[in-house]
Amino acid sequence: MSLDLDERQRAMLQEMHVQVWWPPPSGAEALARAPEPVPAATTAPLRSAGATPRVAAAPAPLPVVEPVPGGEGNLRVRAAPNPPAPGVFAHPHDLDIATLNWAALQQAVSVCRACPLCETRKSTVFGVGGPPAEPQAVPQVDWLIVGEAPDEEEDRTGEPFAGQGGQLLDNMLRAMALGRQHQVFLTPVVKCRPPGNRNPEPAEIAQCEPFLRRQIALLQPKIILAMGRFAAVALLQDSVPDVRQLPPGKLRVRLHHYASAGRKVPVVATFSPNHLLRNQAEKAKAWADLCFAMDALRSTV
Ligand code: SF4
Repeated sequence: MSLDLDERQRAMLQEMHVQVWWPPPSGAEALARAPEPVPAATTAPLRSAGATPRVAAAPAPLPVVEPVPGGEGNLRVRAAPNPPAPGVFAHPHDLDIATLNWAALQQAVSVCRACPLCETRKSTVFGVGGPPAEPQAVPQVDWLIVGEAPDEEEDRTGEPFAGQGGQLLDNMLRAMALGRQHQVFLTPVVKCRPPGNRNPEPAEIAQCEPFLRRQIALLQPKIILAMGRFAAVALLQDSVPDVRQLPPGKLRVRLHHYASAGRKVPVVATFSPNHLLRNQAEKAKAWADLCFAMDALRSTV
């Protein structure tokens, strides 16, 4: 396949400030045209075998130019393989998050710079749970518990539901004959801590939502427990009209659904453990929600 650029392609790449390096010509062709200078930074390994062109390195990451498979010499430009610079918010590598496997999803979250929360986080909080398995395997669980944004302790440890709220959740799970390593996966609604434990902004939740959506598609939980207002809004925004305007109590003790990969996953909304620590009187309501969820799960199997 010939990979020579035509005038139009060269003009297009020049317009985008993309420099392209080609393997030096050989034989008579080399004598016929002067070799292009190759900057030192272009000695990085080729992206793939063969005559794949590559982009010279520069202070800022540059797009990668590569032939379209079976494209008769046509080229395509892909985003740079490095995370965007600080202050630039975009999902890493322009990934199609909906196609990632579990390991790639974890990796994508760990380097994500899609919203301003990346600037102040210490750790990303992807989630934990399920029985011990290969680290890259999708945990086999019936329950997915979606919590609020990470707090300081969760930001430090990278684990969701830490501290006193986490202990309370562990007690609740024990009362349901469940546990962090038994039939449950825990994850926050956004994977990075808002500074000062402020509420996450709607735009931040929206930027992080593809990660949660993909987690649900891969985990295929039998039921989702939305703990706290932000988790409930993120999960129910497509199925409950005006969900943002509803008082949190209106979402409780009703079976909602979340559409995922052709399935309707039951969703039950309840309070977050941290809310229950501040409002002890509502623990009885939370227990009623958990019993409601257990009944709902039993009726689906
Ligand atoms: Fe990315 Fe989500 Fe963290 Fe924002 S909160 S930087 S979208 S992982």
